[in-house]
Amino acid sequence: MRNKIIKSSNHNIAFAGAGPGAPDLITLRCKTAIEEADLIIYAGSLVNPEVLKYARKACRIVDSANISLKEIVRLMKDAYSQGKNVLRLHTGDPAIYGAISEQMKELDRLKIPYKVIPGVSSVFASAAALKTELTAPGVSQTVILTRQAGRTPVPHGQEIANLARHGATMAIFLSSGDVKGLVDELIRGGYPQSTPASVVYKASWNDERIYRGTLSDIDGKLKSSGFAGRQAMIIVGDVLDKEKCQNSLLYDSGFTHGYRKAKKERNGVTECRRNGDFKGKVAIYAITEEGAKTAIKLSSSIKGSKVFLPVRQEAKSIKLSGTEFFGEGEFDEILARTWNKFDGHIFIMATGIVVRKISPLIGSKTSDPAVVVCDQRGNYAISLLSGHIGGANRLANFAAEILGGQAVLTTATDVQNMMAFDEMASIEGWQVANPKMIKTLNSMLIAGKRIGLIIPKKTYRKYYSSSRNLFHLSKYSANTLKDYQGIVSLQRNIKTIGKPVLLLKKKTS
Ligand code: SAH
Repeated sequence: MRNKIIKSSNHNIAFAGAGPGAPDLITLRCKTAIEEADLIIYAGSLVNPEVLKYARKACRIVDSANISLKEIVRLMKDAYSQGKNVLRLHTGDPAIYGAISEQMKELDRLKIPYKVIPGVSSVFASAAALKTELTAPGVSQTVILTRQAGRTPVPHGQEIANLARHGATMAIFLSSGDVKGLVDELIRGGYPQSTPASVVYKASWNDERIYRGTLSDIDGKLKSSGFAGRQAMIIVGDVLDKEKCQNSLLYDSGFTHGYRKAKKERNGVTECRRNGDFKGKVAIYAITEEGAKTAIKLSSSIKGSKVFLPVRQEAKSIKLSGTEFFGEGEFDEILARTWNKFDGHIFIMATGIVVRKISPLIGSKTSDPAVVVCDQRGNYAISLLSGHIGGANRLANFAAEILGGQAVLTTATDVQNMMAFDEMASIEGWQVANPKMIKTLNSMLIAGKRIGLIIPKKTYRKYYSSSRNLFHLSKYSANTLKDYQGIVSLQRNIKTIGKPVLLLKKKTS
């Protein structure tokens, strides 16, 4: 049934988000647009046809499922030129995987105006179904809306594993067809297997279903329930674990009080990463003029640091008291002298130079100083040597913070946002009595093994209270130890239990 031209000077084309499914989750503006439309083209497979009940009897309704872009645009154009109101209804919000840009481009080409009406995206309907805040303080302040590459590839750098590195909340669209593949990618990118993951099928519809689990079991849970739905949102991240969110607020006094040297939490694991955590004397070396400026900038924020520059920079650089200048060919000598005298070394030069210069000086993991390399612009601060015990990761973080750049950490625990045991010991001022076990226990930490920690409760809370695989043990008991695959113990030698044990001791003892 055709309609007469109604508001010939006022007719329009609108793209509107019809919301996630429930008919009462459309906006008032979308409802008005439906009421006034003469032609509605809607995505039949995803938009709940119930919202069409607001359309006039005379309104022509077309399901876009089986028609091409060309046909959609032709329908819009014809109706518009007859003075009709055209409404293109998309699911959720049209800005997310709505494929509206290609339609708008065509309309631009034809010089036909249009407007866009936002809608409630399924990501928010899913969060509501899960009763979750996607941005919990101290856990994640970022939400990544993305999809697994399918027939539509994702641009380089935006692969799931790459995005997972941030440890932020992820809302994954269009990917429930291969949850196993998705989970593998998320874990490859650094999410621990224990990370909570939920799937919401048809959020806000009458047949909505919710599946909760972790990365290690969500696929199995879906399979065993016979799940094969396509219209599902996958949400991953520690924000799904209310315990973790509460803990982070409870223990992160820095968050509530804004104390500058406060501990910082990522992914539910507390990390100390400010200057205050790098204890010791720092030497800063640069070669070029720009590098010298960066060195001076760093030095003025790092208490008690000393700058070393080539003598040719003496006239050019801003005077900073205590700066030492070295002549041509004297760099090796300087380094041989400073290597053990300073606790940290920041080199503002190419990594290659640093690797060659320090290689004869490197001794052992437990005694080498921290080595950080920065480019002369201060874009990156690379933790090169002694990331944990020596504190290079902390120094790199601090240098990056001063320079407004990015710290580059490659130690596996840091990539996975975990506090390595040797790093924790170093921050607490403890020593590792059996450094050979560092790798074993840190690997177990990364792999999500059950580890018992015989350390003060206060320390456990500071770093590990939100982890599901790490347990505080207040006292040694052969009976309880059997429940754990590894042990970290302060001041207690329990080598005989036949399991990996990392022994820590207080420096003074
Ligand atoms: N523009 C839409 C997304 C379109 S892409 C929006 O903002 O929501 C289609 C994908 O959205 C589906 O594969 C699914 O991942 C998700 N989706 C759409 N409706 C959904 C719903 N009601 N519940 C869960 N996921 C939904």
